[in-house]
Amino acid sequence: MPHLLHGGDYNPDQWLKSKEATWKEDMRLARLAGINTLSVGIFAWAALEPEEGRYEFGWLDEIMDLMAENGISAVLATPSGARPGWMSHRYPEVLRVNGDRSKNRHGGRHNHCLTSPVYREKTLAINTALAERYGKHPALGVWHLSNEYGGECHCDLCQERFRAFLQDKYGSLDELNEAWWTAFWAKTYSDWSHIESPSTHWRGEQDIHGLHLDWMRFTTEQFVDFYLHEAAPLKAITPDVPCTTNLMGTYPGIDYFRLAQVLDVVSWDSYPQWSGTERDVRTGAEAAFHHDLTRSLKGKPFMLMESSPSATNWRPVAKLHRPGVHLLQSLQAVAHGSDTVQYFQFRKGRGGSEKFHGAVVDHEGTENTRVFRDVAEVGARLAELDAVVGTDTPAEVAVVFDWHNRWALDDMKGMLQQKTGYHRTVVDHYKAFWEQGVPTDVIDSSLIAEPGYLDRYKVLVAPMLHMLRPGVAEAVDAFVRRGGTFVASYATGYVDENDRTFLGGFPGPLRDTLGVWCEEIDALYEDDRNALEWDGRSYEAFDLCELVHAETAEVLGTYGADFYAGSPALTVNARGEGQAYFIATRTGEDFLDDFYRGLVASTGVERALAADLPAGVTAQVRTDGQTDHVFVQNLNPTAAAVDLGAEGILELAPFSTAILDRPRPQV
Ligand SMILES: [Zn+2]
Repeated sequence: MPHLLHGGDYNPDQWLKSKEATWKEDMRLARLAGINTLSVGIFAWAALEPEEGRYEFGWLDEIMDLMAENGISAVLATPSGARPGWMSHRYPEVLRVNGDRSKNRHGGRHNHCLTSPVYREKTLAINTALAERYGKHPALGVWHLSNEYGGECHCDLCQERFRAFLQDKYGSLDELNEAWWTAFWAKTYSDWSHIESPSTHWRGEQDIHGLHLDWMRFTTEQFVDFYLHEAAPLKAITPDVPCTTNLMGTYPGIDYFRLAQVLDVVSWDSYPQWSGTERDVRTGAEAAFHHDLTRSLKGKPFMLMESSPSATNWRPVAKLHRPGVHLLQSLQAVAHGSDTVQYFQFRKGRGGSEKFHGAVVDHEGTENTRVFRDVAEVGARLAELDAVVGTDTPAEVAVVFDWHNRWALDDMKGMLQQKTGYHRTVVDHYKAFWEQGVPTDVIDSSLIAEPGYLDRYKVLVAPMLHMLRPGVAEAVDAFVRRGGTFVASYATGYVDENDRTFLGGFPGPLRDTLGVWCEEIDALYEDDRNALEWDGRSYEAFDLCELVHAETAEVLGTYGADFYAGSPALTVNARGEGQAYFIATRTGEDFLDDFYRGLVASTGVERALAADLPAGVTAQVRTDGQTDHVFVQNLNPTAAAVDLGAEGILELAPFSTAILDRPRPQV
């Protein structure tokens, strides 16, 4: 694609009765807003196949032709995200069974069994028909498979498939019993047919953490398999058209690093909860984290498949975008690696639960709205950024976010139950780099363990890496030995990939790398406070304090209170050419900011701008290796200024973006 894509979800099938009045007008409005792509067909199954086997493609032909005439490319969807009523009523096996074993009624969306042969047959048939009919259509740009895959199915068909997955993985029940530690509470399995998915009814087998982990891995594989099933006819008929499915950031139910392996391009739906206040700095950091995670899934530019041009109707408070915020959020996605800015939705529907969700075209129906002008402004700005398409993000820092680790921490009974705060903690560490304008990747253990993968980084940060999957500790140790800087925290290296604890002292296989032995961990009540004393300052410590012996590590900071006052709270271990830091307690952003500021300076990792960025101002870079495009963004509700030295002062209005181009410094 020569241009950044700009557009969004479009449901012409909701306007079939008034298409003469709306469709041509939609094309005019789209062009006026600088829109060059629309996503069609996402929930159109009932319009495409009103009766079993009878396809109605006429309306889609017409709209695809209109789009082509208007220079608008189609992100064409397969319709499996929701299905027509005739299918549920004729073939009840397609309906999902919940964790409590209750069977769903027809309704909603994402409500299908992933195993059901009928559902697979029906999706295969309609996807094949779509590919045959539109494979050569000039409007076709990208395939959008289904929509926001999610949930799980516990029906008998899925149980059978789960057992087959386990048999394939473990080979024998003896291996499975050992991996799951089933001697606990008399859980030993003596027959494969006794194994069931974890049930929410009377906590059925939720205490076998290995079972739960394998269920989550199985569910991920179900989506991978279903995606491949859906993609097969598209790949066969249109091998050159990229396929994607839209992800949801850090949605907990699917390991996106695994799912991303089978996508051609990663896309995701971003809905930051902007407030128009100082809180937007944190909101911006969270949005940036999710963009960087999405980019890192495949290590290349992604698509922002959905975002709201204004209010997000499913939020408890559907606040409007303040002036400037829409452009800010759109350019933020591009700054972090998106090659598209797309919305849910282009035209607001008249009925249903999304009729008050933000849209390019409101119920009022014209271009004379504030939101339309905001969207048109984004369109004009994106049209100037052709040079950014396909460019890279030169990250020398990686922060680890790992789904399997998160599942294990969520299951864990101990420490702070239900409050382990893994996601928040990872964002806290990430934010310290984001605020300094340091390009950062967000990666998982599967990438760490890939041979040579860590070679590209100078700094690796893995907060709360409780689970160490095979190969991770070895790769991290090799990374440190050849000169890398590694940062770990409390609650690291407790369990293996089956959630069985390591024996012989935590942090398990990272003990030599970090040079510490973590003997105990203290959980604090909400009002309890300790302190981390470091570098002449005292920082608040709370929630979790790990009691640490420095073995080969040097003690940099100590606890300020309680029976472990004076014992190590921050250490560094010199190993080979590199070093490994251990932060033993949870702190506020004040400590993380100071600590990582020092680390960025001492390791010399690339910053987007060699300037002191005021609080709430950040910078990101995209580069083709010759030219850097530096996006400087002010997330404050007030004006800010950046001192660029010889190049003068860069003034930034509230919620604004400046894009500076410069030749890339050649090393
Ligand atoms: Zn099922």
